[in-house]
This record gives sequence, C-alpha cells and structure tokens, in this order.
Amino acid sequence: MKFWNREKETMPREELEKLQLSRLRETVKRVYEKVPIYRERMDAAGIRPEDVRSLSDLSRLPFTVKKDLRDTYPYGMFAVPMTDVVRLHASSGTTGKPIVVGYTQKDLDDWSEMIARQLTAVGIGKDDFIHVAFGYGLFTGGFGIHTGAEKVGATVIPVSTGNTARQLSILTDFGSTALCCTPSYAMYLAESAKNAGLTGKLSLRAGIFGAEPWTEEMRREIEAGLGIKAYDIYGLTEVMGPGVSYECPEQKGMHVNEDYFIVEVIDPETEQPLPYGEKGELVFTSLCKEAFPVVRYRTRDIGRVSCEKCACGRTFVRMSKPMGRTDDMLIIRGVNVFPSQIETVLINLGYKPNYQIIVDRKNNLDTFEIKVEIGEENFDDTVTALVRKEKEITAAMQSILGIQPKITLVNPRSIERSEGKAKRVVDLRHLHD
Ligand code: ADP
Ligand code: ZN
Repeated sequence: MKFWNREKETMPREELEKLQLSRLRETVKRVYEKVPIYRERMDAAGIRPEDVRSLSDLSRLPFTVKKDLRDTYPYGMFAVPMTDVVRLHASSGTTGKPIVVGYTQKDLDDWSEMIARQLTAVGIGKDDFIHVAFGYGLFTGGFGIHTGAEKVGATVIPVSTGNTARQLSILTDFGSTALCCTPSYAMYLAESAKNAGLTGKLSLRAGIFGAEPWTEEMRREIEAGLGIKAYDIYGLTEVMGPGVSYECPEQKGMHVNEDYFIVEVIDPETEQPLPYGEKGELVFTSLCKEAFPVVRYRTRDIGRVSCEKCACGRTFVRMSKPMGRTDDMLIIRGVNVFPSQIETVLINLGYKPNYQIIVDRKNNLDTFEIKVEIGEENFDDTVTALVRKEKEITAAMQSILGIQPKITLVNPRSIERSEGKAKRVVDLRHLHD
C-alpha cells in the first residue's frame, strides 16, 4: 500500500475534523476581510466569521456560484495582492464566458502535493515516464498534473494535446508508462494505436483520466484497449484544478483531499444540505487556498459522497464519478436526459462510446437523434442487420431514458474525435427562440 503522505491520508476522522475546523475558520476570516463579495453576502445573511464555531456552521454561510466569478472577472475574488500571485488559469469555458483564477507559490505546492498523492496511490513514481496529454495553457489539466508528476520524481513528458500520430510515436519511442488525458482522448489513442498496429507494443501500464464525465463501461474499454489500469481524477478550475479528489487502487470512488477541501452535498432545488450517501449537487469549500479561496462553491456536478471505510486505509470520504453537470442535463420533451446514460446503454450493447446527440425543434416539438458509429467489423452488414441494430438500440434507449430517440448508425470513424473534452451534444433548439 503506497502513500505519498500517510499521516494526512489516513488521519483519524476526529483529528481531521479538528484540522478542518481551524482551517475553515481561517478561510472564512480571510475571505471576509479580503474579498468584498464574501463580506457583502455574509453581512446580508447576518453571519460573521467568529460565528463559525463548528463544522456544521458551514451550512449557515452563503453559497458561491459561477456567476459570482463572472461578475467579478477577472480578479475581483482574489484574496491576496497580485504581487503574490505566481500563476493564472482560466476555465476552458465549456459553458459560457471564461473565469480566471490565481495561485500563490504555496497554492501551487499544495496542488502538486495532491497530484503526488494520486500518482503514488496508484503506484506511479520515479521509475515512470508520465505522458501528459492534457492541454497545457490556461486549462488547468496540463500544468496541474505536470508539477505533481515532477514532485514524485517521475520523468515527465509534457506532450500536451494534438497531433495523434506524434503522440503515438512518443508513446512508443520514449517508453511512456503512464498516460494522463481526458478519457475521450484515451479512447481515441487506443483506437489509433490499434489502427497503427501498436496494440501490445506500448509500455503503458496505468493512466489517470478526468476533466469530463465518463462511465465505468468506458473505463473497461480504455483498460482493455490500452492494456492498462485506468484511474479517475476530479477537479475544477474554480476550486483548484485536477486533484480535488483522486482514486486509489480500489477504483471505487475518488477520495476528496479533505485536509484541503470540505465537500457538501445539497439538493440543487431547495439548496438544503443532504446527508452523505444521497445523490445531489457537490459543493466545495477550500481550506488552505490563499489566492483564490472559495466558500461553498456550487459545482453543478451531481454525485454522491460516501463515508464508508475504504480498503486502502485512507480516511478521506469518497465521491462517486459525477454523472454530469446539472447544466449538461438535457431536458427533451420534458424528460431529463444525461449523456452518461446514453453512453452506458451503447457500451452495454457492445458499441464504442463514439456518439453524438442532436436535439432540435420542429413544429414546436423537440426532436432527439443519436448518431452511433458502427464498428469496422459491421461495415459489410446487410441492410436488414443494420435495421435490426437500430431497433435494438432504440428499444434500449427508450427503456432507460423514458423517451424514444431516433437512432442513426453512421460509418466507422465518422464522428469527430476530441483531443480534449468530448463534445457529445449538439443542441440547436436555441436557434428557434
Ligand atoms: P470548464 O468548466 O470550462 O469545463 P474545467 O476544466 O474547470 O472547465 O471543468 C471542470 C468540470 O469538469 C467539473 O466541474 C466536472 O463537471 C468535469 N469533470 C472534471 N473531472 C471529472 C471527472 N473525473 N469525472 C466527471 N466529470 C469531471
Ligand atoms: Zn481508497
């Protein structure tokens, strides 16, 4: 069993909660003194920093939402002078205008500590060649993983995204043993490696994937395709970047770095806290961040948190894979549809997760189409066989989603592959507003 920081990662809960409380009090005091929006909100709610006496008082504090970050763009929520900020990142803007966050040197050291915990947990260390195919730049993925990978003493290969042929020759020639990228790009690399006849010729043995939702089914595809163990990592720019939570060898949820963050689960409608175990929106409070502390940041990610003991010995709670964001959720003819449900159905029926969801509106009625790629092996199927396949997928979708999509089978490799986060949904309904 490997730990980067056994003392912290296996801290008895009681001690951990004491540490959280003292760090929470410092954080609340700091944001109250340094960040006007926090002070205004807390004053309006009639709560002062000294009112936070126990961890349960956290739920009395106002929430922070993405709009607050946009309204104070670019630096309005920074809690230190810019002279102390050594790096900026911005959200990749999957949903709307980007937001900017900053880090002090101490913040960066803490971040790399969290990445080092993840790498060590899954047996990646100084003997490894870590191929980082997350984007380097304002996106937190590349640099986030990079410094942690250096911290454990691995040989880091900062490939960044793009040029898949070059990625494959680097994987082969440099002998990369660990891969870090989005799960959709890992799928694409597996597929490209297969087409290039490289199956079984790579030295990869583990991968750390995140930054977008992926299913257990997709994990199995990646593991089989690249011959590796695939681990999940979670994070978001507003809270820090990748490494807020990390998977251990058990592969049963991601341990939240609870000495650095408190995670709450709330009902997104009523905004009331839910007990751990129930499904709801994840809300994070940072405990150590200097440049960009966040108090009760609503992620819009839907998941579950479990405080059951983990066989790995870590005492940190575990969060499930987020099933998608509340804002990824499509409402089609009044029915809630998550792309992750569609992915699960497809993989269970033996398809690769190469699909695209197209939602439009005709005569005031939502139309819902899913394009699904057939495999090379089905290329010569008869029309009857293909029609049977379409029917089979349609029926499976109807039973899981409660709404019937139009299924269109498309040629192998005709759906655009992504080097970063996959774009699964094309929603054209706003064009008719
Ligand atoms: P943007 O908000 O522009 O996409 P981020 O890179 O900050 O930029 O994205 C963070 C989001 O990515 C999270 O809120 C979550 O929805 C998603 N995400 C990150 N890691 C994972 C993961 N391991 N599983 C599922 N979703 C993830
Ligand atoms: Zn564990």
